[in-house]
Amino acid sequence: MTETAPNSSSGGDVRLAGISKTYGSFTAVHPLDLAIPAGSFFALLGASGCGKTTTLRMIAGLEEPTTGSVELAGKDVTALPPYKRPVNTVFQNYALFPHLDIYENVAFGLRRRGVKSVKKQVEEMLELVELGPMARRKPHQLSGGQQQRVAVARALINHPQVLLLDEPLGALDLKLRRQMQLELKRIQTEVGTTFVHVTHDQEEAMTMADTVAVMNAGRVEQLGAPADLYENPSTTFVANFLGTSNLIEAEVAEAGGDDLLLRAGDGKLRLPAARCSTQTRTGGKILAGVRPEKVSLVHADEAGSIADGRNRLTGRITDASFIGVSTQYVVQSPAAGELAVYEQNIERDGRLVPGAEVVLHWNPAHTFGLDAAQDADAGTELVEEGA
Ligand code: ATP
Repeated sequence: MTETAPNSSSGGDVRLAGISKTYGSFTAVHPLDLAIPAGSFFALLGASGCGKTTTLRMIAGLEEPTTGSVELAGKDVTALPPYKRPVNTVFQNYALFPHLDIYENVAFGLRRRGVKSVKKQVEEMLELVELGPMARRKPHQLSGGQQQRVAVARALINHPQVLLLDEPLGALDLKLRRQMQLELKRIQTEVGTTFVHVTHDQEEAMTMADTVAVMNAGRVEQLGAPADLYENPSTTFVANFLGTSNLIEAEVAEAGGDDLLLRAGDGKLRLPAARCSTQTRTGGKILAGVRPEKVSLVHADEAGSIADGRNRLTGRITDASFIGVSTQYVVQSPAAGELAVYEQNIERDGRLVPGAEVVLHWNPAHTFGLDAAQDADAGTELVEEGA
């Protein structure tokens, strides 16, 4: 930790209690309770219009909540204006001062507060964001990623207890964005400040955050560690919005044991009872989910090579896209409809081309169960929209 690091032991936790926002008859954020521990990297993830920016702005004090309260570092700040809250916000458009050099941009907050000797703190901040040699450049002489790092340094020098980031990487191209994600994560780990990050990019949220809250239509649909959300989505929206899921409509043929036995068309599947986020009973409907990378594909002629005990479905390849690290197949299965399969490109079977009859198989432990009363396609169209 550098000496400029804010003292996270003095707080930095964010507590929202029953916070909501309505505009006329439209509810942008439904009453929301959220506890973000001090020092964590928290992401609010959702498609455009789901209410994530409104939530962030209520924490910042830029938006007045219709109901509820905001507590920062143990203090109720609901009635305080933004500048009296221990927060700083970094926006997508870096909003640097174009006429000031990088050094002065970073020094700005200190100078405004009348701090006389800024040198040590500014230099430490520039070092933190690895821009020391650029100190005397003007913002337009930096790349987008470097400008964004200046914006982060300029905010962190004020020692906020919470740093709010509103789509901070949105203006960067994909490669730079990936680089900056790692960079921001490193900075956050180094300074220990609570970061609350708003993004529509699921990969970005999963790369950086300790905890992700997936928002949909003004509500937090599910909250958890990235891997947990990905492996155990509790709704079809989360299953589809966070990566891709195959959701297979099935009937429960046998319930009661450690595994449920399911029937999907003429296919039989097993599903661990512990991985069901819904009540199950024999004869009831369920959506059996499996991620595309968990599924293997063999040509129908090789079906005999599949180990016993694996879930299996037959189908025909309708599309195959080679994307370098993997090949992404679309398979039409009479029992389960359209299924996605991602195969790593290690040893490719040249027969796996559109039109080929195939068998899909996977470890039953990788199957999760969702309530079949939900829309199986919830969240799919938003992924394309948000991307
Ligand atoms: P985006 O990524 O596009 O910014 P978001 O998830 O951050 O989306 P919000 O900006 O929080 O969404 O907006 C949530 C909803 O509230 C949207 O439907 C938006 O149109 C609506 N909204 C936001 N501000 C206002 C306002 N001042 N008046 C009326 N409606 C608003």
